[in-house]
Amino acid sequence: MEETVKDKVIRVCGIEPESIVDGPGFRYVLFVQGCPHHCHGCHNPESWAFDAGEDMTVGEIFDQIMENPNLRGVTFSGGEPFEQADALLDLAKLCKNAGLTLMSYSGYTLSELEARRDPATDELLGMLDILVDGRYDESLRNLTLVYCGSENQRVIDMNKTRRARAEGDHGMVVPYKSGFDVEIRI
Ligand code: SF4
Repeated sequence: MEETVKDKVIRVCGIEPESIVDGPGFRYVLFVQGCPHHCHGCHNPESWAFDAGEDMTVGEIFDQIMENPNLRGVTFSGGEPFEQADALLDLAKLCKNAGLTLMSYSGYTLSELEARRDPATDELLGMLDILVDGRYDESLRNLTLVYCGSENQRVIDMNKTRRARAEGDHGMVVPYKSGFDVEIRI
């Protein structure tokens, strides 16, 4: 039988069905299993092993997301989401079509992801509203940061970054301006 967009399997470490700390608004957070970065002080070392966790299909995860009308978006966290870019891309398409915003964490920097020259990685990057990039660096830990843990990590407004680059500013990376007191729709 032909594989549909909902059949791909994602290796999952955990799910937070309604979070307010992993991006703007109420968000479904998918923690994927498997991370090659092994950052010292990682908050989620149980997500490192690629053979742990459990398999879920894109369809199963999307059905869970659709059960909650309060959700504003979906966040991919980890583990390393971009090690499963192909299957996450299918989930991302379904979520975008449903009007949800998309955010992803990655231990890779944006330029490292772009240097892969991998079509699924590029397409997934092209669908994100926010990317938090870079490995966690405990020596740069800062508890006042919003949506990330160390000062080397960047919270990137991907829509504004794409727009700036389309206008010719090719290396531009626009930070996401979040606010706990001001609600900014993305
Ligand atoms: S990239 Fe994230 S999940 Fe992976 S080791 Fe670093 S902090 Fe942990």
